Amino acid sequence: MKTPAAQFKVQATALTQDLRHRQLIQTALGKYEVVRDRTKAAFQDWPAARQAAAEIKWEAVNHLDAHLVQLVRNLEARGTKVHWASTAQQARDIILGIIREKKARSIVKSKAMTSEEIHLNEALEEAGFEVVESDLGEFIVQLRKEPPYHIVFPAMHLSRGDISELFTRELGSAPTQNPEELTMIARRVLRQKYITADVGFTGANFAIAETGMISITENEGNARLTAALPKVMITLLGIEKILPRLEDLALFLPMLATIGTGQPLTCYNSMYGGPRQPREPDGPEEFHVVLLDNRRTELLADPEQRDALHCIRCGGCLNVCPIFKNVGGHTYHTTYSGPIGSVITPHLRGLQDWKHLSFASSLCGACTETCPVKINLHHHLLHNRRNASKQKPSFFERTAFTVFSGIINRPRLYQCAKILGRFFQRFHGLVKGTRLDPAYAWTQSRELPPIAPQTFKEYWRSRNAGPGSPS
Ligand code: SF4
Repeated sequence: MKTPAAQFKVQATALTQDLRHRQLIQTALGKYEVVRDRTKAAFQDWPAARQAAAEIKWEAVNHLDAHLVQLVRNLEARGTKVHWASTAQQARDIILGIIREKKARSIVKSKAMTSEEIHLNEALEEAGFEVVESDLGEFIVQLRKEPPYHIVFPAMHLSRGDISELFTRELGSAPTQNPEELTMIARRVLRQKYITADVGFTGANFAIAETGMISITENEGNARLTAALPKVMITLLGIEKILPRLEDLALFLPMLATIGTGQPLTCYNSMYGGPRQPREPDGPEEFHVVLLDNRRTELLADPEQRDALHCIRCGGCLNVCPIFKNVGGHTYHTTYSGPIGSVITPHLRGLQDWKHLSFASSLCGACTETCPVKINLHHHLLHNRRNASKQKPSFFERTAFTVFSGIINRPRLYQCAKILGRFFQRFHGLVKGTRLDPAYAWTQSRELPPIAPQTFKEYWRSRNAGPGSPS
């Protein structure tokens, strides 16, 4: 089996040459920055809002222990059952345990990247349960037996024609390229599932420690139905989703919508504080919250990269990343793709196996610039590169840097290397980009800049030797 790095390389090479794929992504993200910036302009002071958001998340993450205790206390006070899962396996076992105890058969889900992270659908299906994704994009990729392509737009890599073909094949509907008709086809299938499902499963955008509430934001209303109709509701959330106060949502909800989709606010914003209370007309009879660690505390223990836990999963860094726009979401083979995925996956799944993602970057900094909570993404990619080579130095890297430092620290040797380099670069064209090229790793896909015709020292000497120069 190919290593993740080899798999990434092969797929990235193929997809960067796939013009149809590039066209689809360009179409999907073409107007993103214009719409986002227009919505951003409605903020009185966007840089101040970003700073405030970064500070709130800093407070939340740096006092996570206290906020989690407060959240759990408040959730339990209203009858919610809270579970702690250290690993993906534990989270799956807890969820399966609840479903089995309730003798449930079918589960309807709203979008939850945490469930992708723990491979919940596979576990549920293996155990014989019927699972249906209710978010339209997730429903489409589930029919295609694919993981989501993007953390906010799971089916952005598909055209209307692709979706029409899929629905015709899987649901027996008539072909159509009309988006409303396609939505209605999915809706007809899904409405029935809400009514018959025994368990509703959701993720969460935020968890409010002060009030013990789960905040879910969405555009289709499917999460509301998922939470309101089945008798049992299960929410799986990463422990970093905490916000200290209810009033923090006043900043985070519009900010998430602005950077995520360019909307001032997403269409449906719901808060869940427990199972149905006496006199409440709807809601689940039982509400379970599963708090997922899955190596987040290891990231928390790293003071240099801890701020990666500030991420609110808006997807903004993916939308502006030149690498993501060329290689697409599936090439990463990770739950979280794009810049934030490249930063956190080595922490969540192992640095050595996933260090290649740190190199899937032009280091242009567009991700850092767009991040609403000011995560220093491109610097964290450099941190990952450094940590990976410190942990397990590669033979070629070590040799190259030993040779380089040996030359650069000896002026006479450096002079010789410079002369030889200038001489041999005349013949470089003969082998450039071939296996005979000593710089093949670079030149197979990039240009090697020529050695400068004059070094600064040479320039300075010639300047001082020129007419009128000081003696
Ligand atoms: S890292 Fe920042 S921009 Fe990227 S998804 Fe997270 S919050 Fe959004």
